[in-house]
Amino acid sequence: MTAKAAGSSPGSLRHSLPVFNPDFMREAALTSADEALHTALDNSVTKKDYGRRATLAELPDSDALRTLAGDIKRHTLDNLDYYLAQLEANVQKHGGHVHYALGRDDANQLVIDIARQTNSKLIVKSKSMVSEESELNHALEKAGLEPLETDLGEFILQVDNDHPSHIVMPVIHRNAKDIGRVFERYFKVPYTDDPQSLAEMARVYLRQRFNQADMGISGVNFAIADTGSIVLCTNEGNGRMCTSRPRVHVAIMGMEKIIPEMRDLPIFLKLLARSASGQALTQYTNIITGPRRADEHDGPDEFHLIIMDNGRSRILAGDYRDTLRCIRCGACLNACPIYRKVGGHTYGSVYPGPIGALITPLFNGLAEHKHLPHASSLCGACYEACPVKINIPEMLIHMKKDQIDQGIAGFGEKLIFRLWTTGLRYGWTYRLGQFAQRVGMRLLPHKDGWITRLPGPAKGWTAIRDFPQPPKNNFRTLWNQRRVDRGTPEGKR
Ligand code: SF4
Repeated sequence: MTAKAAGSSPGSLRHSLPVFNPDFMREAALTSADEALHTALDNSVTKKDYGRRATLAELPDSDALRTLAGDIKRHTLDNLDYYLAQLEANVQKHGGHVHYALGRDDANQLVIDIARQTNSKLIVKSKSMVSEESELNHALEKAGLEPLETDLGEFILQVDNDHPSHIVMPVIHRNAKDIGRVFERYFKVPYTDDPQSLAEMARVYLRQRFNQADMGISGVNFAIADTGSIVLCTNEGNGRMCTSRPRVHVAIMGMEKIIPEMRDLPIFLKLLARSASGQALTQYTNIITGPRRADEHDGPDEFHLIIMDNGRSRILAGDYRDTLRCIRCGACLNACPIYRKVGGHTYGSVYPGPIGALITPLFNGLAEHKHLPHASSLCGACYEACPVKINIPEMLIHMKKDQIDQGIAGFGEKLIFRLWTTGLRYGWTYRLGQFAQRVGMRLLPHKDGWITRLPGPAKGWTAIRDFPQPPKNNFRTLWNQRRVDRGTPEGKR
């Protein structure tokens, strides 16, 4: 197989995307038993998490930097109307166009309109989570346009009709063998699972498509209000090709992606790549301010910035405003024991992991994603990893209360928590509960001190692992016994 063959006659990219299953529990039951997925995740997210810790430790005071970054984002959100107006004015000052999209369909339609007005057909895209959120590719294809993902991971997903499973590493759930089979089918070349050969195939094919493209679409890592610039942080260089080669560049961002001033940017650059991948900086950092000037050699004739709301104004006005501080680094996913166990697709949206467990119900409805606030051990690893210090565990607990208040929690769940509350409230109910639990659990099937089968809703636990039998004497009994042995007054109580 040669790289030349890869560019010759690829298959079609037109298809309808599979629909996410919002039932977290059902999906988690499947993925938690998927050994191939665990190996893929172990090989990537765990290493990225170690890398994050190591590179952050190189900074003189990374904790203070994280506090500062979080404060800047909080200040921006508190004054978002001001900074949006400033950004718009400065983009226009440099010859760009700014468009506001209330919903995701509005954002997609704006791109379609710009494509028609500029006679664009082939559209090359660099990675953009907002365009995943709006399912832009699907809308463009329906409008008869030809979107092509050029980030390697996103390209593989587009070719194989799949969704991303991680904010930063979209194809993390696939291994080289898997991708080899995808490329074998798409490029009609002999199978290989050599990563370098696979990357070379995609590179050769995409390079010729960059030269043919009419329009380039990019996301936005940061939009700088006082200069009207957008910042792209990428590792593959495809972002540069998308934003400089085609005649038209359309950048799409959620309205929360603003930072006030250019001098704020280094703070976020120091944190973003370190948190995302353990790199000091991404390979490419592009600061783009408007279209090509008369004296410049490359760059687009037109620059359009689409600012999408899609529920963000509602979130801004409510109790979950802090979620809009997110800079989409993916560190909370890498640190999360639940994400590492079930992978990204289980969360039922393009935003997985701890931050996805919060924003997916906020974007798509709490009733539809009722399991997500519970998809956390509340261990705090996400909070500890977050470069802008979003307190995800606290908000997940708050969201569980919302479920109760809105009547979304089921009868069984409400009953369990009512019993739990009563048990903890009084000493005698607590002791009675402990006694009942100890006696009851010792009657269950067991072997060598481990319960092999739990009843009712707890049976899922013993379906894949045993549960320790409670000891004959609990802590309280041992404590009292010790005091009796020592002859202390408390022991005689
Ligand atoms: S919540 Fe924090 S750690 Fe998670 S993606 Fe957003 S910025 Fe990164």
